[in-house]
Amino acid sequence: KVYITQSMAETPAQSVIGEGDAAALAYNLESVRARIAAAATAAGRPSPPSLVAVSKTKPVELLRIAYDRGQRDFGENYVQEVVAKAPQMPADVRWHFIGHLQSNKAKDLVAAAPNLFCVHTVDSLKLAQELQKRIAAARPDNPLAIMVQVNTSAEASKSGVAPADCAALAAEVARSCPLLRVCGLMCIGKYSADEGSALSDFEALVQCRARAAEALGVDAASLELSMGMSHDFEQAVAAGATAVRVGSTIFGRRG
Ligand SMILES: *Cc1c(COP(=O)(O)O)cnc(C)c1O
Repeated sequence: KVYITQSMAETPAQSVIGEGDAAALAYNLESVRARIAAAATAAGRPSPPSLVAVSKTKPVELLRIAYDRGQRDFGENYVQEVVAKAPQMPADVRWHFIGHLQSNKAKDLVAAAPNLFCVHTVDSLKLAQELQKRIAAARPDNPLAIMVQVNTSAEASKSGVAPADCAALAAEVARSCPLLRVCGLMCIGKYSADEGSALSDFEALVQCRARAAEALGVDAASLELSMGMSHDFEQAVAAGATAVRVGSTIFGRRG
C-alpha cells in the first residue's frame, strides 16, 4: 500500500499542508509504531525501541503534525535544518543529530537547540572534544548524550569508526569528555534489494556493544543500539535495536 501521496512528497517547504496529507502522515506514524511494537513482541522483547522520526528535508508543518500525534524524538542530518526548525518547534522536542558532523559545525549545532538530545554520529575524538567544549560553554549543567557511529559494513561512502576501534573511542570519550554521556552505538545497515542485507551490520553492532560495555565498565544492556531505517527497521528491532530512525515511511519520499 502507498500511504503518502505524490503531491505530499513534492510539497515545497513553504506551502500549506493539506488535510489529506496530515491524515496520511498520522496514519503512517501509527502504522510504523504498530510495526515496531509487533516486531518487538515477536522477538520476545519486553518493551519496544524508541522511534526517532527522521524529518530531514521536510517542512516544519509536517513535524508539527507528528508532534501533535505524540512524537517527541526527531532526527535531522543537516546542522542548518536544526538551526531553522528547532526554534519553530516546542521546547520538549528531543532533537537527534544523525548526519555526519564536522567538528567546525559543532558550535552551530549546540547553539541551534538547547534541547539537542543526542548526537548519534560521533566518529572521532576530535569531534567529541569539540562537542565537549561547546556544551561546556552553552549548557554545562546539561550533559549531551552521544553515540559512537560504527562503519559496520566497511563501506568507503560511510562515516564511522571501524568495529575494532569503537570500544577504545567510547572509553576515551567517556574519560576525557565529562559533559558527554556515551549512551550507545549507531550504524547504518548496508542497503541492497535483498531482504536481510543489513542483518550482518546489526549483528556486528551488537558485538561492538559487548566490547564497548567492557571498556566502559558498564552493562551491555545499558547501552543503546541506534540501527534500522525505513527499509530495515523491523530486522533491526529483531536484532536488538533500542532506537530506530525512520524517515520516508513516515514523512514521504524525499525529493
Ligand atoms: C535519512 C536517514 C535515516 C532515515 O532514512 P529513511 O530511509 O528515510 O527511513 C536514518 N538514518 C540516517 C543516518 C539517515 O541519514
